[in-house]
Amino acid sequence: MFWLSIGECQDGADIRRTEVEHLTHHETVKALCTVRGHVADVHVVDLWRKFPGYKRIAEIRLWCTRCGERERVELDAAKALGNDHAV
Ligand SMILES: [Zn+2]
Repeated sequence: MFWLSIGECQDGADIRRTEVEHLTHHETVKALCTVRGHVADVHVVDLWRKFPGYKRIAEIRLWCTRCGERERVELDAAKALGNDHAV
């Protein structure tokens, strides 16, 4: 389980230009806590409910509730973008 909060832009690839409203191909996005390897699915509808459609994914900061990590949690939205082969 991950909590969502707003943070600064991360250094990412093309995900930087991706907005919440583009996540239409899958019902969840994968959140990865890179420090301890915790993985969880975040429901896209929760993102839509919480953020405006133009909100960029790179600006969404995730907080891992299992270990408290806030800085190094990544969002893998490739599947929700209809691109299973990315990353
Ligand atoms: Zn964690």
